[in-house]
Amino acid sequence: ARTPLLMGNWKMYKTVAEARQFAENLGQRSADLVSGIDYVVCAPFTSLHVLRVMLPAQVKIGAQNVYPETEGAYTGEISPPMLVEFGTQYVLAGHSERRTLFAETDELIERKVRAIVEHGMVPVLCVGENLSEKESGKTNDIVAAQVQKGLAGLQADQVAAAVIAYEPVWAIGTGKTATAEDAQVVAKEIRQLVAAQFGETAAASVRILYGGSVKPNNIASFLAQPDIDGGLVGGASLDAASFADMAQAI
Ligand code: 13P
Repeated sequence: ARTPLLMGNWKMYKTVAEARQFAENLGQRSADLVSGIDYVVCAPFTSLHVLRVMLPAQVKIGAQNVYPETEGAYTGEISPPMLVEFGTQYVLAGHSERRTLFAETDELIERKVRAIVEHGMVPVLCVGENLSEKESGKTNDIVAAQVQKGLAGLQADQVAAAVIAYEPVWAIGTGKTATAEDAQVVAKEIRQLVAAQFGETAAASVRILYGGSVKPNNIASFLAQPDIDGGLVGGASLDAASFADMAQAI
């Protein structure tokens, strides 16, 4: 059985002082972080250290980005070993904001996924269609291509340990969600694609998350779907109380 995963993505929110406050507040609710669920907060690089030190022990830290080289003349970038050094366990790759605002290509995302795995961290490959793609019936094609290209450099056992987040772009930060049933259809397609490409064992193990306006009052409906193993949560992960409420709701 796959362990449920509650993952926050803070995006470009919170100073170090604010991150420390979040960790303190979540610490006061740590009894609500029930066991049997994996918890992760993907924070800006600047807050990862304070979170690593101060979050309740069951909450792991994740990064939102990485550059796929070990070191070098890449001004402004952060390497996998720099993340590993202070305990980063998960890294997002291919978030729609990176694809659209920072022009990340499937080729770059694939290199990031591979670098994350090679350095012993768990990649969270984010995929999803935008509104016009949805309206023209292209959801499955878009998602399938992003999954296939993003995972292309991995072996089956590496895919088994990876995470794929289905985040329809039109649902991100809009208050609109996919219905749990529609999200399940896409999650199932993703799992079948993984089965075809990497085998049944990898497909049975890879964790698939839904993201896009997930909140304490709707997370359970997504987790109830057979192919959805967790949530990737933006806005509602910024508040420790709502993070704890989502843990309780799962
Ligand atoms: P919201 O939960 O704010 O819609 O953001 C979703 C997201 O992009 C998480 O990566």
